[in-house]
Amino acid sequence: MDFLRPASWEEALAAKAAHPTAVPIAGGTDVMVEINFDHRRPEYLLDLNRVGELAAWEVGQDTVRLGASVPYSAIMEHLRAELPGLALASHTVASPQIRNRGGVGGNLGTASPAGDAHPALLAAGAEVEAVSVRGTRMIPVDAFYTGVKRNALAPDELIRAVHVKKADGPQQYSKVGTRNAMVIAVCAFGIALHPETRTVRTGIGSAAPTPVRAKEAEEFLNAALEEGGFWENGRIITPSVAKRFAQLVAGACNPIDDVRGTAAYRRHAVGIMARRTLGWTWEQYRGTRRTLEGAA
Ligand SMILES: Cc1cc2nc3c(=O)[nH]c(=O)nc-3n(C[C@H](O)[C@H](O)[C@H](O)COP(=O)(O)OP(=O)(O)OC[C@H]3O[C@@H](n4cnc5c(N)ncnc54)[C@H](O)[C@@H]3O)c2cc1C
Repeated sequence: MDFLRPASWEEALAAKAAHPTAVPIAGGTDVMVEINFDHRRPEYLLDLNRVGELAAWEVGQDTVRLGASVPYSAIMEHLRAELPGLALASHTVASPQIRNRGGVGGNLGTASPAGDAHPALLAAGAEVEAVSVRGTRMIPVDAFYTGVKRNALAPDELIRAVHVKKADGPQQYSKVGTRNAMVIAVCAFGIALHPETRTVRTGIGSAAPTPVRAKEAEEFLNAALEEGGFWENGRIITPSVAKRFAQLVAGACNPIDDVRGTAAYRRHAVGIMARRTLGWTWEQYRGTRRTLEGAA
């Protein structure tokens, strides 16, 4: 196995173009497990750790440009206000050691349906900056997951950054696991309220072949909130609306039975998480409105 160590982004792109089968390695928390268990024996490893810009982020007007190798611990420490859903999801990843090494670029590279970043990215709205020597393209995160552990990257492409919409309202992330730490999701759910566009977005993890949004549930809820004037009057969401939303989210799951849980359990648990996280985020939204009204 050859170890390629580019010192710059341009060198990394050139190396990937010259060796399209080379496996990029960032934190190595997925790649090294695969190599150690002999699941993978690539001809080339492409070490991205000397490309400093991949570990940097920029907070812009509307989005955060998150370098592919920014570790979860940095998101938790520095980007909690801008990316609350992703920060909450980062908290649930593994242990402090893994969170110091692993990042969103690696989670996207692996594209496991159980990856914790995905539901938060789907709910917030994100684009993946995919780059090769041929140029740059922005892939909406919804279109990035193409199958079980498959993604939309071409063989010569690398992820340079992920552009995530800054939160304009409350966000939540909920995960079911067999214990509190060091656990792969049995299933997970992310939700983001977007008061600016009066929309709610969702993300489901580990309950379908790929991470998915519950689009029908979103459409139902968006219409119900609009019709009832909820964004303006800040009323408590009617239990029947919350229940229907949860049912539609559960219906968007396409899970399997495996060692971590049954399909039926996953569908049920995702519905429960959807109802709960909707309640939490809506309460937070109502609280913000009351504070603003009190200050006026
Ligand atoms: C003990 C343990 C517990 C874990 N627990 C969790 C958990 O709770 N939740 C969770 O989501 N994950 C978990 N993981 C998996 C892993 O930590 C995450 O998927 C992490 O985000 C991977 O990031 P990384 O930088 O280490 O990726 P790496 O291992 O370096 O790479 C992962 C994949 O992404 C590709 N890649 C990396 N960077 C790029 C890039 N810039 N461009 C293109 N492709 C790239 C690699 O080629 C590889 O295919 C766990 C892993 C371990 C070992």
